[in-house]
Amino acid sequence: MKNNTQTLKILVVEDSKVTLKVLSNYLASMGIDAPLIAETGKQALELFERERPDIVLLDARLPDIDGFDVARKIRKLENEDEWSAIIFLTAMNTDEDLARGIAAGGDDYLTKPVSELVFHSKVRAMQRLIEMQRKLVDVTRKLDTANAELQRLSTTDALTGIANRRSLDDFLGREWRRCLRMKKPLSIVMLDIDYFKLFNDKYGHQNGDECLKGVAAQIAKAAPRASDLAARYGGEEFMLVLGETDEGGAMWMAERVRQMVADMKVKHYATDSKFVSISCGVVSVMPNEKQTIAALIESADAALYHAKRSGRDRVVAGVYGKFQLG
Ligand code: GH3
Ligand code: MG
Ligand code: MG
Ligand code: MG
Repeated sequence: MKNNTQTLKILVVEDSKVTLKVLSNYLASMGIDAPLIAETGKQALELFERERPDIVLLDARLPDIDGFDVARKIRKLENEDEWSAIIFLTAMNTDEDLARGIAAGGDDYLTKPVSELVFHSKVRAMQRLIEMQRKLVDVTRKLDTANAELQRLSTTDALTGIANRRSLDDFLGREWRRCLRMKKPLSIVMLDIDYFKLFNDKYGHQNGDECLKGVAAQIAKAAPRASDLAARYGGEEFMLVLGETDEGGAMWMAERVRQMVADMKVKHYATDSKFVSISCGVVSVMPNEKQTIAALIESADAALYHAKRSGRDRVVAGVYGKFQLG
């Protein structure tokens, strides 16, 4: 354990000049040359709030506020992950005084006249606690950051950066229940890149990945509302969930995304337009207890299949519960 007292910020709250001089000398002999000094409770609280010292040496008897009250107020000023050691300085040395000091938020106490050896030992003991506390706060912060990153990774598709299948399932479940409760329509759009296998075969997998990223970005751009979600469903298939949106709104949205993808003008030899295009299947429902999300998705899949069969690069509206292909 290091004994570097230089990094300790100490506040001495003491109205007796004689005691103050003694304590200052003790601190100087530990290498702490310029402690913060307050002679009243009011000054102590002001200095504490501004300077956030590591250790407060607190006289129990002050001219204005009682030292125990000062300790209680200090504890109120501290935020959740903050802690300063409070050591009471008291001429009283009954068990009750000790109990009162601890109850008020103190961590230890020194009886006056203060012995230099005891003083040094208690400051060192507090220093150890302070170092442990700093490490804990540091580790907690790092854990918080790591948790946030994990949360992001577990809900995001690594290639395209949009929502993955897992967060799609969560979102769709939540939005379904919300629309059911609110008696609002819910729509989904299944989007699929046309002749993407041929794109990969001709231009290579890496260009295929870039194309997927570009298409994903257009879909995400189209879904800015909190009740919307753009997600990668799998492979070269995407889904838009549109809460509180009826068929007309969803068709308009799907057509807009189809146009945005066409406007990217990524060359593709195999499509009619000679640019990368997508086909979309749209289905809207007023969710009720008898319907299921699985059937909704299957219906959108069927609509998408029709869009493919009728020439691709288009949007087709389906009907909930109608999965018959062909
Ligand atoms: P259709 O117009 O009928 O949708 O034809 P298609 O070729 O797009 O459909 P198919 O399902 O036959 O092929 C999908 C292709 O998508 C095959 C697969 O190699 C490609 N693919 C899926 N995931 C990825 C990926 O992460 N990166 C790349 N580059 N290609 C992918
Ligand atoms: Mg006093
Ligand atoms: Mg495809
Ligand atoms: Mg596909």
